[in-house]
Amino acid sequence: MAIRQHLCSCCIILLWVCAVHADQIPEPEPLYDLARLRQDSNSARLEVLKEILRERGIPFELQSFQSAPSPHGRTQGTNIIMSFGPDTKEITVCAHYDAVESTEGELIGGMVDNGAAVIILVDLAKALKSHTLRHRVRVVLFDMEEIGLLGSRAYVATHKPEIIAAINVDVAGMGSTMAYAPGKAERVAHIQKAIGLACTELEFSCLEFPNFPPGDDRTFQEMNLPVVSMAFIPPLESILKIQSLMKLLHTQDDNLDKIDATTLNPATQVVLKTVLNLDEIIE
Ligand SMILES: [Zn+2]
Repeated sequence: MAIRQHLCSCCIILLWVCAVHADQIPEPEPLYDLARLRQDSNSARLEVLKEILRERGIPFELQSFQSAPSPHGRTQGTNIIMSFGPDTKEITVCAHYDAVESTEGELIGGMVDNGAAVIILVDLAKALKSHTLRHRVRVVLFDMEEIGLLGSRAYVATHKPEIIAAINVDVAGMGSTMAYAPGKAERVAHIQKAIGLACTELEFSCLEFPNFPPGDDRTFQEMNLPVVSMAFIPPLESILKIQSLMKLLHTQDDNLDKIDATTLNPATQVVLKTVLNLDEIIE
């Protein structure tokens, strides 16, 4: 009896220690995961991303597609697809994970464009696991955007009949203003409404910015699918910062030191809220 009581006390202490310990284990920092995307090749980026998703318990599948040789000589691209919610029509939330490949065999930059957006979507995927959704939401990380939107083309070619709306995130981590470019297809009003509500609810600074550089959103537009592309940038009043942002894209200066770590979690929250609003609003 005494031994049993003693054992029980030990169990209680052990449980308490475990509980305290669990509380103390910090969530992985977005900046830490983003730093892991600094790799020598897009293939290595893919491997790290698979590792991050496994660590976070986020199920995914891969879509492989053939392409003309990339500067590094890759002839196969790979998209990462994470699915949530019931088997219905689909809301696609996407970002490209590849960076520009130099012919010398290295990756050029790739943190603001578009590693930061990838980490935002990984955090979004983790959050979506605990939400009840009305629609299928697929979070998709595209390969080979930088050599002609090939990943998104392969994805949309396969999934077009299911897609009812798409949100693309391209360029992030440099500020807490969401600039968004609505595509031209019908039903974009639903996405704009979802964005507007999210920005109001979270008191997030958002503005329509039609002159976006082309990205994977063009693939959805070409297929007449409703799409909005988002970027997380400095406030438009900081014109110098915006100009330096435009200059650093696709250069070796697109480094981790350009990322403002405090902007990543709020960006994830506003994308999450937009997706949940859209899931409510859209038929
Ligand atoms: Zn990009």
